[in-house]
Formats: sequence, structure tokens, C-alpha cells
Amino acid sequence: MVQLVPPVSSSAASSELPLLSRLPPALFPLGRLAYNYWWSWQPGGEEVFRAVDPDRWEACGHNPIRLLIESSRLKEAAADQTLIARAAALEAALAAELAQPFANAPPASPDQPIAFICAEYAVHESLPIYSGGLGALAGDFLKEASDRRLPLVAIGLLYRRGYFHQRLDPSGWQHEWWSPERPDDMPALPVLSADGKPLTVSVPLRGERVAARIWRVEVGRIPLYLLDTAVPENSPLGRWVGAQLYVGNPDVRLMQYALLGVGAIRAFAAMGVRPAVVHLNEGHAALASIAIASEEASRGSPWPAALEAARHRVVFTTHTPVAAGNDSYANADVERILGELPSELGVDRGELFALGRWHGSNGEQRFGMTELALRTSRSANAVSRKHGEVAREMWQVLWPGKRAEAVPIVHVTNGVHLATWMAEPVRALLRRHLGTQWEANPANPWCWSAVEAIPDEELWAVRNELRSRLVDFVRSQSISDRLARGEPLDYVEQAARTFDPNVLTVGFARRVASYKRLNLLIQDPARALGLLRSPRPIQVIIAGKAHPRDDEAKRSVQLIFGLKHEATAGARVAFLEDYDLRIARAMVSGCDLWVNLPRPPLEASGTSGMKAAFNGGLNLSVLDGWWCEAFNGNNGWAIHSETTPDVLMQDARDAAALYGLLENEVVPLFYQRDASGVPRGWTQRIKSSLRTIGPAFCTARMLSDYLVHVYAAARKPS
Ligand SMILES: *Cc1c(COP(=O)(O)O)cnc(C)c1O
Repeated sequence: MVQLVPPVSSSAASSELPLLSRLPPALFPLGRLAYNYWWSWQPGGEEVFRAVDPDRWEACGHNPIRLLIESSRLKEAAADQTLIARAAALEAALAAELAQPFANAPPASPDQPIAFICAEYAVHESLPIYSGGLGALAGDFLKEASDRRLPLVAIGLLYRRGYFHQRLDPSGWQHEWWSPERPDDMPALPVLSADGKPLTVSVPLRGERVAARIWRVEVGRIPLYLLDTAVPENSPLGRWVGAQLYVGNPDVRLMQYALLGVGAIRAFAAMGVRPAVVHLNEGHAALASIAIASEEASRGSPWPAALEAARHRVVFTTHTPVAAGNDSYANADVERILGELPSELGVDRGELFALGRWHGSNGEQRFGMTELALRTSRSANAVSRKHGEVAREMWQVLWPGKRAEAVPIVHVTNGVHLATWMAEPVRALLRRHLGTQWEANPANPWCWSAVEAIPDEELWAVRNELRSRLVDFVRSQSISDRLARGEPLDYVEQAARTFDPNVLTVGFARRVASYKRLNLLIQDPARALGLLRSPRPIQVIIAGKAHPRDDEAKRSVQLIFGLKHEATAGARVAFLEDYDLRIARAMVSGCDLWVNLPRPPLEASGTSGMKAAFNGGLNLSVLDGWWCEAFNGNNGWAIHSETTPDVLMQDARDAAALYGLLENEVVPLFYQRDASGVPRGWTQRIKSSLRTIGPAFCTARMLSDYLVHVYAAARKPS
């Protein structure tokens, strides 16, 4: 048995945390808190770190470890009795939480947990191992699992170059840069073997045995293990395998997926973790099933029985209704890249290829990770009701003879983690009016019914406060973004002068992929400018990264950017560079209107609109993904976008619908005030949105669904 790193708690001896030796003893509680991201979703958690050294906190990207290493204000902080008392109280609360027993969650138990495998996790902006929605979902999933005391362990990759940062040039063209990430600067501790050396696992890839160390990050009660290929014994290529999230080179990406899937199962075995259920969150890690079958076979089962036993333990969530998002490979490439891996796992090459093909018998077809995951899992689910329909049609070929409706892919609609995404003023307001039951049972619609009785004035005051905070954020952020681009000083200061805390604030932020149709915002420039210039104006905040290889998406950023030559647009539109969790939190809490314009049916779920709704923002969205389930006619606005083969016509029609809703419904409702200055129609819609979206789209509801309909459910027919 290896020695697992003990969970970090107040009982952990201070010598175990390398950071503590550098700190004044009064700051030990803060140092220990820094090693568990639990602080990041507790009220007042961020404030204790910020209070140490507000400037340094911003400069080090909200990274608590770097703050405590780099700050020159530690002496002052150690003498601040209020701060020390707050840190001690938080640490005591964390220790009390960690001391609680696990929940009863069959088939999982502390000895046989659920094992969650994902290529990305958005736990916090200081751990840059995420790119977008998949990571955000995974991060929220772990936090909810912690809150629910679910026996669950998670595993992913520690990308030493993280995900790319975005910088625009003055023409609006996106450039990418990567920053080196060091585990020493992260709240990560190495997992050690019995002899005290770093525990490693290895996977043969393209002729090299690629080794990976294992790091452990605490997310409340949930350990998140991260495989790290930056070890001396690896070649430069071996080190590169795990260096960069969604690396562009398809060969390296396949190596990365194999490392994730097979490495995860080997890491669990090396650590003595025996999962009851292995949850593949997206298809990247599909080779995990083969690795589990290989374990079964090594215990003496013949291969077909071993594969069947593996299938019995694996569940799979698909997130991608875009064909290009489901990676596939020519058989020859798989042979070349995986090299010795299939024979090491004891799987026949022909059988492996057949498991990854659309039609098992056609040797010409490509090898797909999603196909492999679908064929080697006991249950498969999409991430919204609509996506369930789309996925059943998309993958019907794998179940020849079955009608689409009978294809065994169910759905569990995504949700968002309330404590992470609901800004403190909203939480305080709801706490005052919904009572104590609400936060413990956010998935229960009854607990939200008292939303209707909240005085409009109070609700509106909170919205004004959040908008005003966002405007401050945009002012400072737009100045530094524009200065860094080398823009003329007049333009640099323009948004800071003209962004207005009383103006209807519209947000659009997400990965810039072509199907998300950022360009619809300016499809009709005259109408768009009319909305910005009107005496009852809107102001617009945009953020999002285009994939480094997606020039079409980069061009749509540039097109929006071209608007800056219009004086009004420079004053009323801000593009915030380098979209991440920090920018997302600021935007979803402060925007009055959250716009989403995907080309149906390509949005699997979408979650940013849920985050906006949790803060009293209203959604205006194309009916696709989660919005099909959420929209009820008075909790936001919808664009009915029937799919047509003529994409340009569809775009023009949907853009016209967008402008029409803004001009005729959204703007009038927002600016229609009574004598006390409150827009009663608008606050009514906020209440409807909170009351209906709160219980249905929180991770509490989502995790209950996974427990009942996926983890504990019987297997699907094959
Ligand atoms: C929530 C979130 C996403 C996902 O947003 P979608 O609406 O699903 O596109 C992406 N990136 C970040 C940083 C997020 O917080």
C-alpha cells in the first residue's frame, strides 16, 4: 500500500506543507486554508486572502500560494487580529467539514468511490487547467460532490503550460501566449510512494514509456489527482504530452488522451483506489475502459468477460453535438501513436479498432473516442433534454436496427454550483427572504417560492449594486487592455468615461466558436448602433477566446472589434481580453441581460446563462440546449431558430429577431420605471427567472440525477 497524502486539515503537521516554513506562525491557518480550494466558495473566503495584500492578490491572479510566497506584507497581516480571527474561523469550519462522515451514496462508498475522469477542470482561476464549458461543469461537479459529502475522487492532467492566454492587437486579431505553471506555485502536493519518493505511473506511447507524477489538489472533501509528464526521465516529446490543454497537434492529442485514460486507471491502482464506478466526462479518456478490462483480465478473466466487467463499471457523459468536436483517427495513426499500448493492455488490435468504429466490420472507418466510450460503458448520457434527442440521432448508427428514440442515451441536464456563482449580495438577499432551508435544499422548488415576496426595491438595489461593480471592473480592465494593445490614449480612456452604472448592460461571453454566432450581434450595424445611441441605450460587454487554429472564429472577433472606429461603439462596447473564471464571475453577476445565439442544435447545454440567472440576470437566448427546458414565456426571452439548410438566411432571420426583442421588449421593460425608480416589469421577470431556474439548474439537482439515473441505475442494453 502506498502512503497517500493525508487531506490537508488543521490536524496536519505544519511541516507537511512546504509553504508554512516561510510564514509567520500567526499565518499558519491561512497557509493551511490555501491548500484546499474549499475557501473559494465560502462566504468571506476570498476576502481573507485579499486582505493580506490586495495589490499582490490581483497581481498573482488570485493564487493563494503565490500570494503567501510573494507578498511583502506578511508581517502586517500577521499582526492584523481581525484577519487572523477570520482565517482561524474558516480553518475551523473546514476541519469540521472534513471530519464529517461520507454520505450514503450506493453503489459508491469511501472504500469504493466514484472516479471522475475529465481532461479539464475549472476549479478556480489560479489553477489554469480548463478552457471552457466542459471544465466549468467538471469544477462545479467536484464542489457539489464535496458539499454533498459524496465518496468521489477525480483525475485529470496537470498542464505545465495551462491553456492559452489571449491578447488582441489593435486590429482586433487574436494572439496567443502561454505561461509556464509550476506545481510549487499551486496548492498541489505530490503523491508519494511507500519509500517517500514521488509516485509515478507510465504509459507506452509511440515507442516511449511516458511517465507521469501524480499531484493532489484538494477541492473541499474531494481529491483531484493530476498527472504531470514534466519528469526528468521523459524525452522532450514525452514531457510535451501533458504540457498543453487541447494541444493543436492531433498526434500529441491522441497521446494525451491515452495518457489520461490509461494513466488514470494505473494511478488509481498505484494509490490503492478501487472505484465502484468510473465516470468518463466526455470521450477523451475512453481508453480507461480498456485499461479496466486489462486489469480484470490480469486477474484471470478471459477477455470477453473482462471487457464485460469493465463495461459494467463505466458510465459516459457526451458533451459534443458537433462532429468536429468528437476526435477521430485513421487506424494507421492509432497503430503508430499507441504503439505497444494495445498489446500491453492485452487487447486485440482488430477488436480495439472495431470498438472505436461506427460500423464494427468496416476496416476503413476511423477510430473515434466517443464511439469507443459508447461501446464500453454501461450508461451514456447527454447534458440537456434537447441534446439527448440530438445525441440519440447522431449515434443511432451504433445501434443498427434501433429507432433513434430507442437509442440508449439518456440525459442529465447540466447545472451550476450555487455558492460559486451567486454573488454575495444576492445570496444575502435570498438568505433574508427564503429562510434557512433554501441553501441546504436548492433543488427543491418550494424553497424558492418566497422569491415572489421579496420587495422589488430590495431586489432592484442589489441589481444596481452588482451592475455598478461590473462597470467599475470594466472601466479598469478596459483601460489596461487598451493600453497593452498600444491604442491611442483617447480611446484607452473612452469606456472608462462612458460606461454607465445606470445603463442596461448586456453580456456575451463564451468560447468564440463559429456556431456560437458572435457575429449576429453586428449583423445589422445600423440597428446595432441605434441601440447603443438611443436615449435609452444599451452597453455591451463581450469576452471570449477563439481556438488558436480557428481563423474563422478569430475573424468574427476582429469584425466586432472593427466597430471601435464608430465613436458610440468605443464608448458603449467593451471587449474584455483573456476570458476566464474571474471575468466570467464579474460578468454573470453584473449583466442585466445575458445573450446566447448558438446555431441549433449545436449547443449541448450551455451553462453561463444559468450563472447569470442565479444573479438576477435575464436570458435572451436561441432555443437550444438548456434554454429549451428553462424558458417559460416570462423568465427571459427566446429566439425560435428553426434549422434551415440556408445558414445565411438563418443568421439574418435570427439577428432580426434579436434586434426586434431588444428594441420592442427588453429596452422598454428595463427603462419603464415607476415613481420610486423601480422597473416593476423587469423585477417581476427576475423573480420568475430566479424561482424557476434556481432549483432546476443548480448542481444539487444535477448531482441527484447522476446518483439516481446514472450511478445507481442498471446498465443500458447493448
Ligand atoms: C460557465 C463558463 C463557460 C461555459 O459557458 P457556456 O455558456 O456554456 O458557453 C465557459 N467559460 C467559462 C470561463 C465559464 O465560467
